Amino acid sequence: PVIFVGAGTCGLGAGADKTLAQVKAWCEATGRDAEIREVGCIGLCSEEPMVDVQLPGRARISFAAVTADRVDEVLEGVFQGRPDVERALGQFPAEGQEAWPGVRPMAEHPFLARQKRWVLANSGLIDFTSIDEYIARGGYDALHATLTGRTRQEVVDEVLASGLRGRGGGGFPTGRKWKMALDAQSDQKYMICNADEGDPGAFMDRAVCESDPHRLLEGMITGCYAIGASKAYIYIRAEYPLAIRNLKLAMAQARAYGLLGENILGSGFSLDIVLKMGAGAFVCGEETALMHSIEGRRGMPRPRPPYPIQSGLFGKPTVINNVETFANIPTVMQLGGAGFAATGTEGSKGTKVFALSGMVRRTGLVEVPMGTAIRDVVFAVGGGIPNGKKCKAVQIGGPSGGCIPEPHLDLPCDYEALKSFGAIMGSGGLVVMDENTCMVDLAKFFMEFIQSESCGKCIPCREGTKQMLDILKAITQNRRSEEGLDALLRVRGVMVLKELGEAIRTSSLCGLGQTAPNPVLSTLKWFREEYEAHIYERR
Ligand code: SF4
Repeated sequence: PVIFVGAGTCGLGAGADKTLAQVKAWCEATGRDAEIREVGCIGLCSEEPMVDVQLPGRARISFAAVTADRVDEVLEGVFQGRPDVERALGQFPAEGQEAWPGVRPMAEHPFLARQKRWVLANSGLIDFTSIDEYIARGGYDALHATLTGRTRQEVVDEVLASGLRGRGGGGFPTGRKWKMALDAQSDQKYMICNADEGDPGAFMDRAVCESDPHRLLEGMITGCYAIGASKAYIYIRAEYPLAIRNLKLAMAQARAYGLLGENILGSGFSLDIVLKMGAGAFVCGEETALMHSIEGRRGMPRPRPPYPIQSGLFGKPTVINNVETFANIPTVMQLGGAGFAATGTEGSKGTKVFALSGMVRRTGLVEVPMGTAIRDVVFAVGGGIPNGKKCKAVQIGGPSGGCIPEPHLDLPCDYEALKSFGAIMGSGGLVVMDENTCMVDLAKFFMEFIQSESCGKCIPCREGTKQMLDILKAITQNRRSEEGLDALLRVRGVMVLKELGEAIRTSSLCGLGQTAPNPVLSTLKWFREEYEAHIYERR
């Protein structure tokens, strides 16, 4: 028998360490010779801690909310052949294995039924410390085929044909970036994985690094081969200790298996990957600041051009992609560019991973085909709003993004559709607001975050965000604010916020400042009456 305990960061936050200890204690006390494995997050964070049990010849069965005090009851039920079906989340059927009567297949669980899991294919299912489990599920097959049978140009052509776009926020076509890097003439090229995930409410990249680190490595090795980079960096925030531990272990295993280092798989291609830890500054997610940080300098953005592809890390051509982008590459290479492009919309191919949080029943990681309506993510996958409340809006794309009011939730997950609506896909944060949420408070929350993360290099961002925050603070306080500001707001109201926002947007140096006013401008566009109520009805 094998007992799997969900021990990703979300599981640990819900008490998985105590669950794990109790599982061990129960096995010892009952003399059960079970193998106990730690797995990452399957995505259903709100149901953690999760425990799966697989008896020989039987399907793997999954249980939700197995806190330490429930361990004995759950394990006794399963080992006596009568799982507590009411509490079982579902089962993972496998060929030749006997299903548990009365327990529905996991694939039919409403959380998973609408999902298409490519990036998250292994998350929560495999032991995150085992390269063998990754290989057993087809991992590194595509890399082997690539390194032993494809030219660099062929790899780039597949990625171009796939239509894969950068999942970090900008949506730039990955194949075009790789093609430019392949064509660049240089004695040294670099590839960087941006794992500096910093948006409030975003945890997609952390989950991939923790739960399936070899998928990221496979994507990176493929990318480095394609552009001819012999050195790569993973830039990850130090606040992700489990992700760092698992990545380090995965890199050591890859080296031992000949997948990193000299002459990989006998192909003549050599690669070294370095894990670089950042100190958690949000601005270091901006690519020029990130490169400065790797170079040992202060993490501050610089003007572009030159773009990293022309003059990047240490002045050499550099490709920067984020974790989810790289994690898509094994699928691109397995299915071929055309096979990958068969999923999604005309301009947005493949799937998108969202971190679903806020006022929604089932929170966690969701991967759906591009083109899926946001409403389906919130209601069909997430189970809708708890406590009989109505949905008011969804904030998409974190502090750089925008809000989508409930009547517009049929918008598809599609780069262009979201952009033309005034929102962005961003890296995938999706925060749901119910009818009780004050949209001005929400905008203030994001502005506080941005203001404290502004690097201070340019005045519009440094001073403008402070002014915007001061106004938001003033109008959300019950008592009257300082007289000058109060008088100004009474005369010009929300116009002051709008003008400030536009000025910051158009004159800031980097993406952080250019998108800083988005949460205010977008909530102002859809919920202006809430701002007016705050300004004119203060006591
Ligand atoms: Fe720094 Fe803001 Fe200017 Fe970006 S826009 S360089 S974060 S001050």
